[in-house]
Amino acid sequence: MTARVLVVDDLEPNVKLLEAKLRAEYFDVIGAYSGEEAVRLANEEPPDIVLLDVMMPGMDGFEVCRQLKATPETMHVPIVMVTALDQQADRVAGLEAGADDFLSKPVEDVALFARVRSLTRLKMMTDELRMRYATGKGLGVVKEIDVDVNNGDRRIFIIDDNEDQANKLKASLGDNFALSHETDPEVALGRARSGDFDLIIVNMSIEGMDPLRLCSSIRSFEETRLTPILAVVRQGDTRKLVRALDIGVNDYLTRPVDKNELTARVSTQLQRKTYVDQLRSSFQASLEMAVTDQLTGLYNRRYLASHLSAMFDRAFWTGRALSVMILDIDHFKNINDTYGHDAGDKVIKEFADAIAGTVRGIDLACRYGGEEFLIAMPDTDLAFAGVVAERLRQEIAETKFVLNGGRDEINVTVSIGISSTENGPSEDTAQKLIKRADEALYEAKNGGRNRVINSAA
Ligand code: GH3
Ligand code: MG
Ligand code: MG
Repeated sequence: MTARVLVVDDLEPNVKLLEAKLRAEYFDVIGAYSGEEAVRLANEEPPDIVLLDVMMPGMDGFEVCRQLKATPETMHVPIVMVTALDQQADRVAGLEAGADDFLSKPVEDVALFARVRSLTRLKMMTDELRMRYATGKGLGVVKEIDVDVNNGDRRIFIIDDNEDQANKLKASLGDNFALSHETDPEVALGRARSGDFDLIIVNMSIEGMDPLRLCSSIRSFEETRLTPILAVVRQGDTRKLVRALDIGVNDYLTRPVDKNELTARVSTQLQRKTYVDQLRSSFQASLEMAVTDQLTGLYNRRYLASHLSAMFDRAFWTGRALSVMILDIDHFKNINDTYGHDAGDKVIKEFADAIAGTVRGIDLACRYGGEEFLIAMPDTDLAFAGVVAERLRQEIAETKFVLNGGRDEINVTVSIGISSTENGPSEDTAQKLIKRADEALYEAKNGGRNRVINSAA
């Protein structure tokens, strides 16, 4: 993995030193010698990470950090403050200005590289999501993201076998969060998977299980793959810290834990999680919209086209019949002509609701055309498909469709054609299956409508 690193320091030797170290690790490095230059370069072409000196004449590091974090184009670029200051207050000021981490000069190489790797990896994941979001937005199918977080109901899970320490953490976090605590690492893993937590804090000195293994398990479970982990490490235990970051721990604190630093790091992680969650769900929603018919809420034809062949293959491999029915409303044009297009829409919608109420979870119901629908039923033979179709036909025939605010009440009938892999030709395909159902439907129409016809062998 290579990343573009922007190194900012008013002293040229400092820039050169970091530059040489990072180049040796194959990072792509650009230098900036003042706060102003850093902001300009970052805006010209956003880097993957910024290593930022704090004390500079003119615009200092805190201000650079605030500006970059306040600009939409650069707000997602991770910033590590690198400073000679070793005052806890400055660390917290940096974190509050939006910095992702704070390293003290002289910078320990391994720790620096591990941090740069972990932050750029996280950024690339978010970048991918942001790109999808932007695409969805370009297509006009996603809503704006709201990054304001209310911490009140955020759930934090503390894994620590030391009760005293855990209690101290809890006291420091105060009543601002919903806090849970577990001392037994094995039990903790189970709880983490089922608990739907927003953040997990792990004491990296626990006994009874290798804390690195604990973290990597949390990373590997589907349910917690993306849950941020905050590791608490002993001061000076660089080896463990580096491993933890490489495993995918999002951030860390050193003991003794400073209350303000804890709060700052916790809220950064929670904020990021909210953002990523929203990107993800907005992408999910845009995907769903792309495959959903807007009027009926059923799947659209595009989805059918890609999914039916998978259902067909499955039927082939399992040897279980897949049946398909195509339904077409009878004389629908008359409804439009007599009661208006909106009334026609309402009939389509109610007809689709009847279908949705009939099919099983494993069935695929889609709007196939204007007033034409298709239901694919796995694990269903022709006889059973016939029963389902007949039940639907009757239900529609017996239902009064109420239109125009109750002024009109009409009867609607439907014709249905069914086909199945059960009696298909030896070289059957999903397309042929649909074609046979279509032919059966045509027969149903010709035979007088309001009936179900099975495709012959
Ligand atoms: P048949 O019994 O042979 O199926 O006759 P039909 O009138 O139902 O079939 P035809 O295919 O001749 O007409 C279908 C009509 O459905 C024509 C089209 O304007 C209308 N239609 C298609 N999509 C929509 C829609 O989304 N809303 C409404 N209101 N009408 C639609
Ligand atoms: Mg019709
Ligand atoms: Mg039609």
